[in-house]
Amino acid sequence: MRLKNKVALITGGAGGIGRETALLFAREGARVVIADVEDRGGKRLAGRIKRGGGEAVYCRADVSRDGDCAGMVEAAEAAFGALHVLFNNAGVMLADDGGAVDTSEAVWDATLAVNLKGVFLGCKHGIPALRRAGGGAVINTASFVALMGAATPQLAYTASKGGVVALTRELAVIHARENIRVNALCPGPLRTELLMKVLNTSRKRQRRLVHIPMGRFGEAREIARAALYLASDESSFVTGAEFVVDGGITAAYVTPEPARPRKA
Ligand code: NAD
Repeated sequence: MRLKNKVALITGGAGGIGRETALLFAREGARVVIADVEDRGGKRLAGRIKRGGGEAVYCRADVSRDGDCAGMVEAAEAAFGALHVLFNNAGVMLADDGGAVDTSEAVWDATLAVNLKGVFLGCKHGIPALRRAGGGAVINTASFVALMGAATPQLAYTASKGGVVALTRELAVIHARENIRVNALCPGPLRTELLMKVLNTSRKRQRRLVHIPMGRFGEAREIARAALYLASDESSFVTGAEFVVDGGITAAYVTPEPARPRKA
């Protein structure tokens, strides 16, 4: 078991990457705190983990609110006595996010509040708990869009993820001597609700797939496995990294042609 005796707090834990990570971390021996605004899904997931013999609690927390972030860390320590792994994973991608000219201030503010301020607040309240535990791992979910630009922009989303990478790097340096590692996880496009809601036609999906050398969307469980590595002691010398898990998208200049059926 790779997370035996560890307590892990996962924001956005009720859906997508967070959900798969909660299940995987619990299988690897962690006691899991699922923080989300989706009460039904979060409670159901905690119940499923417990029925499977694991330990989990659900805590409602909107990561854009300071009091909620303080509360989720308190809930972790109250339930399980400590906090060792903080996965700041909650995020949103809003439909009306576009270029500078057409993105409204409201969309900008709402995106930054969850995706960037939420990570800051998670760290603000989580890092003191990691210190109390003698050290630990912080994983902040960024995205490959923090590393490259696109002609179909989502400016607020992209800026928020760029901020996550920059904030992560700096926190890694600040806390390096305290046995606290801080890494940014940068997934490529995934087949989760967040992206499929935006790529809501087959044409839009195909358009995006053109850029992925592997020719498919990633799965949430593939990102959960990367989070497991960053959370566990196997990554004990890894901090301040942009950990890219993207089917080759950031490596590509030109992607392979899709395979064509061969003539007999
Ligand atoms: P998802 O929509 O499937 O799940 C996100 C979860 O976050 C949901 O359970 C949602 O309820 C929760 N959430 C939303 N706002 C919240 C808030 N204010 N407070 C607490 N919880 C909140 O999305 P996902 O694909 O699993 O995305 C998880 C993370 O991965 C996000 O940060 C996202 O930006 C990032 N990411 C996703 C992709 C992708 O293609 N799906 C690619 C790169 C990065």
